[in-house]
Amino acid sequence: MTRTVYVNGEYLPETEAKVSIFDRGFLMADGVYEVTSVLGGKLIDFDGHAARLARSLAELDMKQSVTHEELLEIHRELVTRNEITDGLIYLQITRGAPGDRDFAFPPEDTEPTIVLFTQNKPGLADAPQAKTGIKVISIEDLRWHRRDIKTVQLLYPSMGKMMAKKAGCDDAWMVEEGFVTEGTSNNAYIVTKDGTIVTRHLSNDILHGITRAAVLRFAKEAQVKVEERPFTIEEAQNAAEAFITSASAFVMPVVEIDGQPVGDGKVGPLAPRIREIYLEEMRKAAI
Ligand code: PMP
Repeated sequence: MTRTVYVNGEYLPETEAKVSIFDRGFLMADGVYEVTSVLGGKLIDFDGHAARLARSLAELDMKQSVTHEELLEIHRELVTRNEITDGLIYLQITRGAPGDRDFAFPPEDTEPTIVLFTQNKPGLADAPQAKTGIKVISIEDLRWHRRDIKTVQLLYPSMGKMMAKKAGCDDAWMVEEGFVTEGTSNNAYIVTKDGTIVTRHLSNDILHGITRAAVLRFAKEAQVKVEERPFTIEEAQNAAEAFITSASAFVMPVVEIDGQPVGDGKVGPLAPRIREIYLEEMRKAAI
């Protein structure tokens, strides 16, 4: 089946979808994005992703050219047209294609480029790694300092993923001034020996994960203690458990960091429990 994608107001077969070579997303990574998961044909935490999109656009002085309702309608239409039961919807908005290359922002009336496409992922919530856990390496965090904005500048995270693969691991945790910031495409957590979830506090140093917000809310509701503070790789290696969260991985245990087992090297009790609560609650609230 040829995918149907959305480009600037039109639904098109992916083979016919085009953007200009002068698009600032292409020339300057001048764009933002969101990824929303679909489970059982419904959108998970759409409002959270739409709210972060609005914030990313505002932080970059980009105009919001589609309303919340229109965005919801486009997401739903793509789910239907592509017959997605489980999968992901990518949304990318750039500062548009002003007609020539220039460092200065284009005139105010330049229309943003809006692209949405789907990825079909049957069984997205049943990833085998949720049972076995993933292995990560640590790398230096060499990204820019506005990581709270979800921009399409993904080169360093992409390089980090490749470094992890080369080392026979699944992902990389980035470290700045001795403390873990986040994973290449996820937020990072540890569970202390007394059962407290620790994750870095919100600032410009990390992306404010939509899954993170929900997971911390559910953890607190389940009477699990949460500390939002930085932690080191050494503390993580000596923790009882570690895990990551993202809209596509949900909650995923981490069992090895830089070749050292976390806890007993097996998937611990808390991460799978939080994953189960997250999936159950989010499926109930899906729209
Ligand atoms: N941090 C980074 C750097 C990411 O790319 C992502 C995934 N988009 C996350 C954290 C997790 O965010 P979310 O839970 O909103 O997917």
